[in-house]
Amino acid sequence: MAIQITGIRKHVAECVTETGGETCGIRSSAWDTPAQLNTWIRAHADETGHTKYKKHTEEPVNTFSKRATAADR
Ligand SMILES: [Zn+2]
Repeated sequence: MAIQITGIRKHVAECVTETGGETCGIRSSAWDTPAQLNTWIRAHADETGHTKYKKHTEEPVNTFSKRATAADR
């Protein structure tokens, strides 16, 4: 099975602050550039006082059977 990236890499921020034993878990929108992550984090921190975040990148991928991929190329 081959795996191929099929779209643009996206950047997402996630709040991982724990409050009362539960993780907030709210995620930002997905953006094409990481520049807006800090803006989102600052806004969420201002609103909630939450302090711990993760930055993620996401890439959409598709799987192909190897035989089909070789035939397509
Ligand atoms: Zn939060």
